Amino acid sequence: MEESQLSIANPIRTNAIIKKFNLRAKKQLGQNFLTNEQAIQGIVDAAELGQADTVIEIGPGIGSLTEKLAQNAGQVYAFEIDDSLIPVLADTLFPYNNVEVINEDILSVDLDNFVKEKNITGPIKVVANLPYYITTPILLQLLDDDINFDKMVLMMQKEVAERINATPGHREFGSLTITVQSRMDAEISLIIDKKSFFPQPKVDSAVVTLSKMDNNKYEIDDFAKFNKFIRACFAQKRKSLWNNLLNMLGRTDEMKQKITSVFEELNISSNARAEQLSITTLKSLFDLLGK
Ligand code: SAM
Repeated sequence: MEESQLSIANPIRTNAIIKKFNLRAKKQLGQNFLTNEQAIQGIVDAAELGQADTVIEIGPGIGSLTEKLAQNAGQVYAFEIDDSLIPVLADTLFPYNNVEVINEDILSVDLDNFVKEKNITGPIKVVANLPYYITTPILLQLLDDDINFDKMVLMMQKEVAERINATPGHREFGSLTITVQSRMDAEISLIIDKKSFFPQPKVDSAVVTLSKMDNNKYEIDDFAKFNKFIRACFAQKRKSLWNNLLNMLGRTDEMKQKITSVFEELNISSNARAEQLSITTLKSLFDLLGK
């Protein structure tokens, strides 16, 4: 088979592309290109793509994942910050007329506006091998947008994936867990070894699948306010929830009395830490104190 017939993620083809364009992976932009075709198939399977779907990809790199997205979805919009990859992508993705590469920093894009401009009406899925230096800001941006994405399949450092997927009582359970899980159903779909990338990152990776909730399970009407409250509950992780709440709400006698009675009502012990409580209990606490 000729090199150009191999998929972009095939190590022989990746190598040839890197040579042809004299590329050097930019560490500061989190450039670790996927060279494991099975891992890419796993990501595409987790996204359950169909022709009705529009995919937003963040950081297409040299197009390894983009190629498979183009083969499986109706339309792909891929945001790439690195100018020098734009001619590379024009070359590697030449056979696909359902891909548009947009040379922009994803963090400066108003996705809500973008979706309106493009007049996208069907399901929208975000699929990406994220640049790890900005995993959390991207996640927060995606969750903050007014768009209720149908699915997000995101490869990230394993440690962040574990925080997202954590359950109460575990060290990893924190404000990021709650910000994500209060909005979307989360699961870890794949664990991916460092060897699946060129160049190899320092850490192992995981693919997290976030799916739209059937309904607003926790009945949160103001996510921004709720997330702010949750961040304050976890502000000093080693301190009790009681202390964090007083720091947030003011250390007055009146407030101490109020918190005591709310804790009694919700059956929370006075020395409990936020990480020990379920999202449902934290939501009740928000309803009684945070609003
Ligand atoms: N998708 C490719 C793959 O799987 O082989 C590349 C993934 S690589 C981990 C991350 C990509 O995100 C790089 O191409 C990098 O240039 C791009 N990137 C980094 N910061 C970005 C930003 N702020 N906005 C858009 N793309 C960004």
